[in-house]
Amino acid sequence: MTNPVSYFDLHSHSTRSDGVMRPAEVVERAAERGVRALALTDHDEVSGLAEARAAAEVAGLRLIDGVEVSVSWHGHTLHVVGLAVDPANPVLLEGLRRNRGGRNGRAELIAAALEKVGIGGALEGATAYVTNPDLVSRAHFARFLVESGRVRNTQTAFDRYLGEGKPGYVPHLWASLGEAVDWIRASSGLAVLAHPGRYPLDDERRSALLGEFRDRGGTGIEVVTGSHTPDQYGYWGRRAEAFGLLASAGSDFHGPRESYKDLGDLPPLPSGCSPIWERL
Ligand code: AMP
Ligand code: MN
Ligand code: MN
Ligand code: MN
Repeated sequence: MTNPVSYFDLHSHSTRSDGVMRPAEVVERAAERGVRALALTDHDEVSGLAEARAAAEVAGLRLIDGVEVSVSWHGHTLHVVGLAVDPANPVLLEGLRRNRGGRNGRAELIAAALEKVGIGGALEGATAYVTNPDLVSRAHFARFLVESGRVRNTQTAFDRYLGEGKPGYVPHLWASLGEAVDWIRASSGLAVLAHPGRYPLDDERRSALLGEFRDRGGTGIEVVTGSHTPDQYGYWGRRAEAFGLLASAGSDFHGPRESYKDLGDLPPLPSGCSPIWERL
């Protein structure tokens, strides 16, 4: 038996960042699967939202304008999702433009680092998968590593080459946590800390992060996400409650064979959580 599909899916990607389906195709797939309210949250980019909105009107699905902002915090990369943002807001647009600006230079450094461990042609290889020239992502390098037979799947590409501390990893300075929250709030959106269980932080750093995020104006954290194991749903649900943060749920869908979870493939929030959709 297949699992019931969640009404809300508040995290997804299209070809405007590192997803493999166009914005309209993501919306159509979500609607076909039974999702009723979808947030498209491309990395540092809102240019897919107009196409998604037009498709959502046809499909009878509610589109929530979203974005996923890359952040540097004490040497770690974090992601902050903005929900119900105004995609025309100049503060948000300028911040995102700046955040995207470093990606091409970083891609050259990643290719050079891979070359040093004997993997040539990575820039050209990754570029073949890029669908928005301003948005080269490590996901595109991962696709190149898989398709050229260096690794068996995307996860292994990150574990061996692209993840923090691996030979193809290049440290990069993204927006600060405060900037990301400010841009989202300036555009009247809600700031949500994405997949908190993915960051390599001990308990003390986790508490510091949640406290700082809330104090800077963050509203919620992802509790149910494709990046968490079922054990982590309960843990992060309790952390959200303890910090007075609302709970969000999103698949982080990138494509049918790319992601752990398909659109809407999300169990209910653990009991005791206050869902963020009551504020949307
Ligand atoms: P970037 O923003 O260029 O650093 O790339 C981050 C993207 O790489 C994420 O949004 C995911 O699409 C992908 N990614 C990061 N870590 C992993 C991982 N461990 N396994 C699979 N994909 C990952
Ligand atoms: Mn991605
Ligand atoms: Mn993310
Ligand atoms: Mn994402």
